[in-house]
Amino acid sequence: MGDELTVLNPATEEVVATVPAADAHDVDRAVVRAVAAQRAWAAAAPADRARLLRRFADTVDAHLDELALLEVREAGHLLGNARWEAGNARDLLLYAAGGAERLLGAQIPVPGGWDVTFHEPLGVVGVIAPWNFPMPIAAWGSFPALAAGNAVVLKPAETTPLTALRLAELALEAGLPEHLFQVLPGHGAVTGRALTDHPDIAKIVFTGSTRTGREVMARAARHIKPVTLELGGKSPNIVFADADLAAAVDPFSFLDNSGQDCCARTRILVQQTVLDEVRDLLADALAAVVVGDPADDKTQMGPLISRQQLHRVRALVPDDAPGLRGGAPDGPGFWFPPTVLTAERADSPAAREEIFGPVAVLLPFTDEQDAIRLANDTPYGLAGSLWTRDLGRALRVSRAVRAGNLSVNSHSSVRYWTPFGGFKQSGVGRELGPDALTAFTETKNVFISTEGPAL
Ligand code: NAD
Repeated sequence: MGDELTVLNPATEEVVATVPAADAHDVDRAVVRAVAAQRAWAAAAPADRARLLRRFADTVDAHLDELALLEVREAGHLLGNARWEAGNARDLLLYAAGGAERLLGAQIPVPGGWDVTFHEPLGVVGVIAPWNFPMPIAAWGSFPALAAGNAVVLKPAETTPLTALRLAELALEAGLPEHLFQVLPGHGAVTGRALTDHPDIAKIVFTGSTRTGREVMARAARHIKPVTLELGGKSPNIVFADADLAAAVDPFSFLDNSGQDCCARTRILVQQTVLDEVRDLLADALAAVVVGDPADDKTQMGPLISRQQLHRVRALVPDDAPGLRGGAPDGPGFWFPPTVLTAERADSPAAREEIFGPVAVLLPFTDEQDAIRLANDTPYGLAGSLWTRDLGRALRVSRAVRAGNLSVNSHSSVRYWTPFGGFKQSGVGRELGPDALTAFTETKNVFISTEGPAL
């Protein structure tokens, strides 16, 4: 066992818990146990696996408020959002349970025999999660993998291990086999690397920064280990002059979760003719945002996750950068005011780098082609919104923007029954949606000759 992780409440800087950090030996031991648990789990009837996952969902449901409060304390999330996140984990369990019962192969016509396919589980899956949505992202990587017949070893982020540890306890309480779903808190450079390098981990699902994702992919390549990577974003919000402007520039499209959202619409691209109107709307909206105690129902935006994150945001967004700003409490706690930078160039660091704080940049465009050019002028391609009343334009632009999750006249990005993932440097592979389980299987093709010797 390595050292300890200290979990701080980001709104107060009080210590919430200390948790032992797993080292490479702990990862080894966990994987050995997971390999044994997975064999029995994969051999069980899909309906039996589904029944246990549904019981797990019921157990999560019975502890929804407790999980939500834990998320508020370790991650500084608003209580209402944290309840949604716990509900998302529960709903995904039910969806994945249904998927376990419908993980069907195909029968493919071939001459001279019968040809059938099977979706076989991979074995033990390693899931490495970030701190920004600790519960949903742990769930997205882990629950479909379990449903498809795999075991999971999950490493939560250093700052937010508590909800994941509680989910693992609830899994046992619900009757899931021991060692099938193990949570190992630890440091990325120790526990994360040990999982990525382990020869008996069959796949890595990594959610985090593009920089770390690049390393995970390179390490996994040594074993030809498949990866799903959910990485950073710098998503455009494209606002045409004919849009419902007030809805289009809803500040929570980039302030939700204090901007620590990989899908945050942090580049507000506005048609030049309505730029002044949009600026006025944003100024009023930012001034009205209630920033403070995340457990208070009236609060609309909470703190950043850590002092380190606060320093990072401050470095990219100096106090004297021209812009619109709301208010924020003084310390203790890691607070940054809602901000829209109004004089950035499209190639400035604030307009190109993922800030991961409550900050957007406002950039004008002239026409449809210019909007598409600006939207695509980024190494990322995770999400985006476009706002217009012109259906033809909505169809053209949504196809031309290179990103995995686009919404027209909406800022919504995530539903557990639709696929989620990034183009370009925002990632590899998809989570959720109809193919959520097959991403954790190998397809086997079996040909049975009807012309060979009698069987
Ligand atoms: P991060 O890359 O620093 O860490 C993510 C996880 O990786 C943590 O658990 C960390 O301990 C671990 N890790 C760190 N170094 C590692 C290594 N060398 N090997 C293996 N694991 C290692 O990211 P973060 O700061 O925790 O999270 C924020 C980032 O996550 C943002 O860039 C955000 O956009 C991204 N994100 C993406 C999605 C998505 O679905 N695309 C969702 C949420 C967050």
